[in-house]
Amino acid sequence: MPICTSKADSCGIHDVLLLLKPFRLDRYRTLAYNCQRFSHHCCGVLSNHRGYKVVQRNTDQADHEVVIEALRPFGTTIFTEINAIAAAFDTINLSQGFPDFDGPEEIRSKAAEAIMQGPNQYISSIGLSPLRHAIARKMERFYGVAVDGDHEITVTSGATEGLCATLLGILEPGDEVILLEPAYDTYAPISAIARATIRYVPLLRPDFSIPKEELANAFGPATRCIVINNPHNPCGKVFSKEELTFIASLCSQHDAYAVGDEVYEHLVYDDRVHTTLLSIPELRNRAFVISSTAKTFSMTGWKVGYVIAAPELSRAVRLSHQFITFCGQAALQEAMAAALDFPNGYYEALLSEYTRRRDLICDALADIGFHVYVPEGAYYVLADIKPLGFDDDFAFCRMLPEKAGVAAIPSSCFWNERRDGRDLVRFCFCKKDPTLEEGIRRLRRWLT
Ligand code: PMP
Ligand code: GLN
Repeated sequence: MPICTSKADSCGIHDVLLLLKPFRLDRYRTLAYNCQRFSHHCCGVLSNHRGYKVVQRNTDQADHEVVIEALRPFGTTIFTEINAIAAAFDTINLSQGFPDFDGPEEIRSKAAEAIMQGPNQYISSIGLSPLRHAIARKMERFYGVAVDGDHEITVTSGATEGLCATLLGILEPGDEVILLEPAYDTYAPISAIARATIRYVPLLRPDFSIPKEELANAFGPATRCIVINNPHNPCGKVFSKEELTFIASLCSQHDAYAVGDEVYEHLVYDDRVHTTLLSIPELRNRAFVISSTAKTFSMTGWKVGYVIAAPELSRAVRLSHQFITFCGQAALQEAMAAALDFPNGYYEALLSEYTRRRDLICDALADIGFHVYVPEGAYYVLADIKPLGFDDDFAFCRMLPEKAGVAAIPSSCFWNERRDGRDLVRFCFCKKDPTLEEGIRRLRRWLT
């Protein structure tokens, strides 16, 4: 039975991976699902390899009549595509950033108890009060920033909904949004749905520094906000206080907002410090800081995130949030409220574990022959494939599961112009040591 999965990558190429081998259906649920949606639109074989046929869809048709114009260029996310290819092989999956271990048992037991005890009904739209106040305590403890848990915090369904509620709450059609490239894949589509215009400013290699003059020139009368991801996915950049102060002065000058995606705030390596936008005086009333418990407590599936902003700004977030999800889940929020109050030792242990994992994978990738951009924060490493004789990250990542038994993300999906990241592949290292070691062993076997 033919099974296919659709793919419309970030650069707008629409194709379909058609799997003609007889596979076990239970292992290929995603593929089977996509098959139902797209198999009718397959035509023209692009390539053949070991029983797989990569075929082009007819045109940009069918779903385009249904999908709004603003969304059409984006297609299925790279994470879904690579996970589907990875699932077709025996892979060590270092693509989508989720741990292969669960967060502390204590948090999980608390959530389980809360579910059993109930109530299991809708809660306040802005989130449980104990969670909001725990977030406020954490902001004071780690950054010395006083936040009002009642009027300045909104709990959302992960940082993803926090970003969505914020951008949809503040953007008018025609407003300009500045994105620093590479940019995490959520910012552009949400801005596009809001009918905003995106202005990209590329961070400069090798240290992904801000091109100050170019950034200053990108600001103008139509600028509504800039999105700053710190620590940065995918490049691991940690912005300094000086850089953020420079951005703050541009925001003040142009009366623009700063939207901070700080989900990796507790993964900052080598004695660097995380500077939250809210600690920059000029941004205290201009910043929306979005974070999540997903990374800090290794529970990406719970989707407990939040937005912190001055009361006036929070009003915009709360208005849109109430019509997107209305509220989150009581039990998960109750458990995360307790987690956020964990002593400093928890956060220190998390960081030292991740520092070790980062060093393990960076040293090994360099030894295999990649040029490695050692991350200052977050849990991804960008590796340059040129020294190994490759020059196309998409081609490399599409063959990696079959050739090496490893999955990774082609980093050019984080750039608007694909050519800018074509030489870089992103590996995540939020995995147990044996997983990382096996992934490294497999890469070494294929590439050396
Ligand atoms: N922002 C960045 C930079 C991310 O890497 C991710 C992925 N975890 C998110 C936001 C989404 O976070 P959440 O899972 O809490 O929605
Ligand atoms: N943040 C994850 C990553 O960058 C992806 C999460 C998602 O698929 N939305 O790998």
